[in-house]
Amino acid sequence: MRYDVIVAGLGIHGLMTAYMLARRGLKVIGLDPYPVPHAHGSSHGQTRVHRRAYFEAPFYVPLLKRADDLWVELSREMVGTSFSLEEGARVQAGGGALLSRTGVLVIGRDDGRLASGALASAEQYRIHVKVLQAAEAMQLWPGLSIPEGHIAILEPLAGVLQVEPVMHRLLQLCEDSGAVCCPGAGLDRWQLDDNGITARAVGIEEVIEADRLVIAAGAWTAGLAGLDLPLRTERQYQVQFSSRNGSGYGAGIFPALAIDRGAEPMLYGIPDFGNGIKLAFHHGGQLGDPHDYPAVSDNEVRELHGVASKWLPWLLPEARASWTCVYTNTPDEHFIIDRHPATERVLLLSCCSGHGYKFAPVIGEIASQLLVDGGTQHDISQFRLSRFTGAVAR
Ligand SMILES: Cc1cc2nc3c(=O)[nH]c(=O)nc-3n(C[C@H](O)[C@H](O)[C@H](O)COP(=O)(O)OP(=O)(O)OC[C@H]3O[C@@H](n4cnc5c(N)ncnc54)[C@H](O)[C@@H]3O)c2cc1C
Repeated sequence: MRYDVIVAGLGIHGLMTAYMLARRGLKVIGLDPYPVPHAHGSSHGQTRVHRRAYFEAPFYVPLLKRADDLWVELSREMVGTSFSLEEGARVQAGGGALLSRTGVLVIGRDDGRLASGALASAEQYRIHVKVLQAAEAMQLWPGLSIPEGHIAILEPLAGVLQVEPVMHRLLQLCEDSGAVCCPGAGLDRWQLDDNGITARAVGIEEVIEADRLVIAAGAWTAGLAGLDLPLRTERQYQVQFSSRNGSGYGAGIFPALAIDRGAEPMLYGIPDFGNGIKLAFHHGGQLGDPHDYPAVSDNEVRELHGVASKWLPWLLPEARASWTCVYTNTPDEHFIIDRHPATERVLLLSCCSGHGYKFAPVIGEIASQLLVDGGTQHDISQFRLSRFTGAVAR
C-alpha cells in the first residue's frame, strides 16, 4: 500500500492534520493503537476551553485568530449549519453545540500572570475584553466569590469546544475526504529508504509505504520519533460537580473560568452542559507513564472541592464523574512543530503542554502547508526543535 502521508496518532492534532491533507487531495493513512476518541491520551474529557486573549504569550494570538476562523468553518462542515458571531455563538449539532461562546472569565490580581498576560494579548491584538472589579463580577454571577484585590477579565467570544463530538465528526470528515483511518492499528516501526518511508502497523499485514510521515502521537511522540526529546508526561484529573443552585453554573448563564492562585496551580472551570460544572487544576500533577495512572481518588476530589468551593460557594462536594488525562509538556510549555532532525520527510507535532486543543485546526493547516507547499505563512519560529539541546536522533 502506498500513500502520500502516514499520520501516526489520531488524537485531535493527527486527525486534524489527516483531514487537512485529505481535503487537499493527498492520499493519507491515519494510524492509532486505540479507538477515536479514547481515554489514554489527551483528546478526551468532554470539553476544552477556547480563548484568544492568551495569557500564556501574545505570539499565540495570530494562530488563535486563524484557529477561531477555522473552527467556525469546520463547524459548518461538521454539522452543515450556519454560524454567526453576532448571534452570540452557537454551532448547532443535532441539538448539541460543538463550539459554545460561553465567554471566559480570567480571575486574578491585576499584576498576576493571568490577568496581566490576558490584558497584554488583548491590547496588542485588539481582542474585545471587559475588565470587571470583584464586586461587579459577583453581581453578574452570584455563584462566584472573588476576594478583594482581584479583577475579572471577561472575553465574551471565548468559549468551550465539545471534544467527543468534534473527534467523531472529524473522523467522519477524514473518511469522507478519502483518508484511510485505522483506529486499533498503531505504528509499530518505520524506516527511511530511497523511496521515502516504509512502515509497519500492528494488525496490518502489508508494509505501508509513503512519501512522508507525521508523528502526532502525544505522550508517545519521542519514542516513535526515536529522539531524546525533553517531553514530560504529567497526570491530570478533572471532576464534575453539581451545584446546590440547580443550573446556577449552567453554560447558558455562566462562563468558563481560569483562576490565578499565584504560586499554586491555576484552577479552571467549564460551565455545566448537563453533567455538572467541570473543575481541575492546571499542572501540579505527578509525572509518569499514562498507562500507569491511578483513577481519581476521594482525596483528590476533596482537595479540588475544598479549593474550588472558596470561589464557587454553590458547589456540592460529591463528584458526579471524574477521569484522568495526560499533559505532554515541553520545558517552556510551547509546542513542537518541526521536521525530524534526521529527515525532512518526517514532521513532528507535539502541541500539548495542556493548552493545545483550541489550536487544532491551525496546527492541521500548518502541517498540511509544510508537507504540501514546503512552508507556511504562520509564524512557527517559537516551536522549533533546535531550542532543545538534547533533540538529537538516537
Ligand atoms: C485534562 C486536560 C485538559 C485540557 N484542557 C485544555 C483546554 O481547556 N484547552 C486547550 O486548548 N487544550 C487543553 N488541553 C490540551 C489538549 O487536550 C491537548 O493539547 C491535545 O488533546 C493534544 O492532542 P494530541 O493529538 O497531540 O495528543 P493525543 O490526544 O494524546 O493523541 C495522540 C495519539 O497518538 C496515539 N499513539 C500512541 N502511540 C501510537 C503509535 N505507536 N502509533 C500511532 N498512534 C499512536 C495515541 O493513542 C493518541 O490517540 C487539555 C488536556 C488535558 C489532558
